[in-house]
Amino acid sequence: MTCLLCHQPLDHSAIFSDILFSLKNKQSTCQICRDKFELIDPTNHCPTCFRPNTSNQCQDCQYWENTGVQVNHQALYSYNSAMKEYISRYKFQGDYRLREVFAMELKNALKIYQDYTIVPVPLSAKSYQKRQFNQVTGLLDAANTAYQDILDKKHGKKQSSKNRQERLKSSHQFHLKDGQKLPEKVLLVDDIYTTGSTLAQIKQLLLDAGIKNVKTFSLSR
Ligand SMILES: [Zn+2]
Ligand SMILES: [Zn+2]
Repeated sequence: MTCLLCHQPLDHSAIFSDILFSLKNKQSTCQICRDKFELIDPTNHCPTCFRPNTSNQCQDCQYWENTGVQVNHQALYSYNSAMKEYISRYKFQGDYRLREVFAMELKNALKIYQDYTIVPVPLSAKSYQKRQFNQVTGLLDAANTAYQDILDKKHGKKQSSKNRQERLKSSHQFHLKDGQKLPEKVLLVDDIYTTGSTLAQIKQLLLDAGIKNVKTFSLSR
């Protein structure tokens, strides 16, 4: 077995203990690669969106609150250079095997949302056609976590090619699929949280549709 990220062989002791304890807990990356990712310090982040290294509410959250959207977000990892590279290889180069890298961490982190219905942020049909997979449902599938795919996205200009102002103000691209039974509590899940505009848009859509409790979650912030 080799590390999914650097392709070096995983050391035998790790493999042996994996077999011993649980095959489901198998390690997919070596310790050296693993150590490059940075968990967000639970005592030092924006209280509403988990932006790392600040204890005050950040400007993005203040912006959303001024537009009437309450931010209630949790993120696991900071968007450092290792995470940036990971996302680029997984999502933009389309290496689908990399969905496994955070499977255990995600599964554990999502346990506290047991009474929430998990809803992944969708891709537009065009992006899906290009990438061949939704990176968010890939992460959730790897984590063996159930979700409901109740949203659709219209194709528009790519978020990453927009500037900050455009991103914050981008108009409604998302809608609910027809004939969905709406859950009472939703945890919206995305891979990255940048300005929060995608999740704020969808959150507003779900609240407008009558869902009372909507929280959001991302792998990185
Ligand atoms: Zn490695
Ligand atoms: Zn914030």
